[in-house]
Amino acid sequence: MKRDTHLVVLLLWVIGCSLASLTVWKVLASRERALEDVNVHGLNLTQALVTYSEGIVRQSSLLLLGLVERLETEGSGPAQIERLSALVKRQEPLMPQLSGITIYDTQGRWLMSSNRPIPAGAHNSDRAYFIHHRDNPSRETFIGPPIQSRSNQEWVITLSRRFNDARGEFAGVVAVTLGVENFLRLFGKLDVGQEGAIGLSYTDGTLLVRYPFREQDMGRNFSKSPIYAKYLVDHSVGTASFTSSLDGIERLYAFRKSDRLPLITTVALGKREALAAWRMEAWLSAVVVAGLLGLTSLIGWFLILDIRRRTQAEDQLRGTQQQLLSSNRQLELLAMKDSLTGLANRRCFDESLAMEARRAQRDGSTLALLMIDIDYFKLFNDSFGHVAGDACLQTVGRVLQDCVRRPSDLLARYGGEEMGVIMPDTDTDGAAVVAQLILDRLKQQNIAHGASPFGRLSVSIGIAMAAGAQLDDLPGLIEAADQALYNAKAQGRNQFVRAESAAVFTFAK
Ligand code: GH3
Ligand code: MG
Ligand code: MG
Repeated sequence: MKRDTHLVVLLLWVIGCSLASLTVWKVLASRERALEDVNVHGLNLTQALVTYSEGIVRQSSLLLLGLVERLETEGSGPAQIERLSALVKRQEPLMPQLSGITIYDTQGRWLMSSNRPIPAGAHNSDRAYFIHHRDNPSRETFIGPPIQSRSNQEWVITLSRRFNDARGEFAGVVAVTLGVENFLRLFGKLDVGQEGAIGLSYTDGTLLVRYPFREQDMGRNFSKSPIYAKYLVDHSVGTASFTSSLDGIERLYAFRKSDRLPLITTVALGKREALAAWRMEAWLSAVVVAGLLGLTSLIGWFLILDIRRRTQAEDQLRGTQQQLLSSNRQLELLAMKDSLTGLANRRCFDESLAMEARRAQRDGSTLALLMIDIDYFKLFNDSFGHVAGDACLQTVGRVLQDCVRRPSDLLARYGGEEMGVIMPDTDTDGAAVVAQLILDRLKQQNIAHGASPFGRLSVSIGIAMAAGAQLDDLPGLIEAADQALYNAKAQGRNQFVRAESAAVFTFAK
């Protein structure tokens, strides 16, 4: 039963551990999947944003190229500028992202502005893009750092090209300004959660646009951030996860470098936020599994209690059964024993005689019987009292038991002061040896009996024997032994007498 309890506990453990590990495995796998989904989502967004940014830059570049071409072929005199201004006005509605187009001369003075009147004495010779083109003969489009417009404080990104005069000398700069607001409007339409961010940067780490907009980040260089310092070194596209040094929020970043332009787009999603749905699901799973485990444990506990109760009941039953068995054994023994002398009683004598008779018949052996009666015992009682008589009977029982040594022999109290000895596989000679031994031992004991002519306690013994078919008549065998005993009494007592063989055969018939 202890084994049953152990098995139930083991079963519960196996179920519990399997369920718990399966749940942990499932929850971890779904976390991996959730993170993977976020990364894929981020990478797709960067692709869309790169394509969008490239498109705008390419359109602006084409516009700039056309203007440079006109300025270089027609010159930048007031009439030409007038015509260009009219052309630009027609082109501007085609590019809604465009904030304005400005043309500067060699000194950075404004020659034309598409969206506002030229401020008196305004010049942009200190702007990075102007300095770049003045000092650099390259004809390529330059993407400048974000700057704040001097007239309306609006943040803009400048794309510019240099134009030369007929001699190939620096003649001025044509610049297209793109309002950061336009980018932010698009970025704002993309769902990146509360903690997410979208960024467009130059490859050297200069931030061009960031959503959500933060004034202090504009034009800042992020080349020291992990994305530039670690990931973008070897990869032009990828994902990363780290804690932002700006706000301490852990984010999942997807980044992509443009193939054609020195631009990088970054989409960042808050890790905590991105895993919110997964966390909810994990909690639900944990609660359900904990509930199931609790229920299983409860059922197991009841099962164990039940097994214990059954075990106790069975133990009690077994104990009671044992008690009953031993009581029965004692009762059986008591039923077979004489209470005064401790010898086998008459019932036991009868059963043993019948059993030994059958065995002797089966084996073809002889069975001898001694009938022993104390001489003048009535007188002993009369002289010493009944209690002394009882004690004397006990002493005689012990003496006789000492004389009957073979394990197969049985000494029993036949009744009153008469004893019987059943001696299997014994003939009258063998029985006579035991009878003589009894007489000798009692003589040695010398139990005082003044009323007896011998002056001591003595017994008379009748010996009878049967074999084969004679054993069918057991009362006859007892009768023969009794008769021999009677003869021993008649012949003076304190002696044994064998039953006449003829008589034995007579009653055997
Ligand atoms: P005999 O030599 O002819 O056998 O003479 P006896 O006195 O022994 O005669 P009998 O066998 O007739 O008497 C048996 C006596 O044994 C009668 C009874 O008082 C006594 N007796 C029988 N059973 C017990 C017993 O359990 N205890 C005691 N104290 N006496 C018993
Ligand atoms: Mg008697
Ligand atoms: Mg007697």
